[in-house]
Amino acid sequence: MTVNLLDLDAAGLEDFVAGIGEKPFRARQLLRWIHRFGEADFERMSDIAKSLRARLAETAEVAAPQVIRDETSEDGTRKWLLDVGQGNAVECVFIPEETRGTLCVSTQAGCALDCAFCSTGKQGFSRNLNAGEIIGQLWLANRLLGACADGDRVISNVVLMGMGEPLANFDNTVTALNLMLDDNAYGLSRRRVTVSTSGIVPAMDRLREACPVALAVSLHAPNDALRDELVPINRKYPLAGLMAACRRYLDRAPRDFITFEYVMLDGVNDSDAHARELLRLTRDVPCKFNLIPFNAFPGSPLRRSPAHRIRAFAQILMDAGIVTTTRKTRGDEIDAACGQLAGRVADRSRRGARAAVPIIEVSQ
Ligand code: SAH
Ligand code: SF4
Repeated sequence: MTVNLLDLDAAGLEDFVAGIGEKPFRARQLLRWIHRFGEADFERMSDIAKSLRARLAETAEVAAPQVIRDETSEDGTRKWLLDVGQGNAVECVFIPEETRGTLCVSTQAGCALDCAFCSTGKQGFSRNLNAGEIIGQLWLANRLLGACADGDRVISNVVLMGMGEPLANFDNTVTALNLMLDDNAYGLSRRRVTVSTSGIVPAMDRLREACPVALAVSLHAPNDALRDELVPINRKYPLAGLMAACRRYLDRAPRDFITFEYVMLDGVNDSDAHARELLRLTRDVPCKFNLIPFNAFPGSPLRRSPAHRIRAFAQILMDAGIVTTTRKTRGDEIDAACGQLAGRVADRSRRGARAAVPIIEVSQ
């Protein structure tokens, strides 16, 4: 059976090379070739002995998901639709900004958690991505952004905020995180890699032990009654326990705050009273807030809060001394925003109209 080397972090590669009778330093060489230089062809790995290259070609491969679509929006946001087999596709989005370049990565095809406002959740769950499909997004994006040859990186930050719940695909996510942090691979600092979770409390504790990176928690409501409706996993892990898990996480976190994400839904969770209730809820958790204007998708009855409401809500949090940002909506015309990923493909393919989807969908 052919081993996909993208599925293996440093420890996995060491086991692999030991298994074919090679020394551990070969693992480091492979890591560098594959991840630092984006090389998939063993023949071009010039400091690896010819006999080993031939052996690798027989037993292994470096196989990232295939790109089905590649779109760039007017603001430079670039979105790739990736085939992960059996009719499943996931998305990966690159967001260039002046001081950083952020890659938003998916961890599952679909999601089982069914949050009320999320297009991915509405599609249901297909399967976990394997580690190679997760890190393969970073590997591909680096190659496609032309950032491999000189080791110059365009991607300075990675956020696991694409499709799926990373902590529901724990082991594969941690293998991919290990590679993001490994100096022989992508060498990103823990502070520049963010896992976003809907709040799977035991897995937050495991992440703190296994691979503490920056953490974003999708809060979206200030009390259990409302959060039970918006984020159904709250029924299993209610807010008091979630806040305690956030505090525990901070013992090991690379940053001294948790980022709370809060989708702004018109008339649902966006009143002044909700903001004040949030202050009480999070009073013991050092945190920042990131307000996300709801991104609508076909079939959703929910609406985005008006801009003045978002400003007033943010002001209440800021007046209490909490750093609060409002996410800019980027990549709108290519549906590259949070919670919209791959939604349109699934919707259209259900109607059998997939073949008619234009490759580039830039608004006029
Ligand atoms: N499953 C993880 C990570 C993926 S979702 C999580 O829920 O945190 C990334 C972020 O996008 C989450 O904060 C999620 O709540 C938010 N999101 C989902 N659908 C959205 C939508 N339609 N509009 C705005 N934000 C959305
Ligand atoms: Fe899943 Fe996150 Fe979407 Fe909720 S918001 S359904 S956890 S991807």
